[in-house]
Amino acid sequence: MKDRTYYSRENLMCGFCDLPREVLTAETALDHPEMAAEYEMGSPLCCDRAADVWRAARRTVIRVEQVATGWRVRWREGGRLRARTWGTQKAAIEFADYLAEGGDA
Ligand SMILES: [Zn+2]
Repeated sequence: MKDRTYYSRENLMCGFCDLPREVLTAETALDHPEMAAEYEMGSPLCCDRAADVWRAARRTVIRVEQVATGWRVRWREGGRLRARTWGTQKAAIEFADYLAEGGDA
């Protein structure tokens, strides 16, 4: 299932519920602790479906492990497991950090 959004005038709209797409920001989380308890930072707030799709697509770094050919970074992206192997542990950790910060694989 793919995330669906569209623009209406200037506003980014949710394709599931047709409400403006707003996401949980640090500022909102401070003002509304009940939202921060229920949603993760960056999650859409308009409807459960959008929040579910966002959660599924979100990339998570799973782990860095040593393999015969070097150091492997495994992560989940869009619900699929992916891996990339690096020659050194340092390079693998740098790549894992880069992914964690939202870099493109
Ligand atoms: Zn929605």
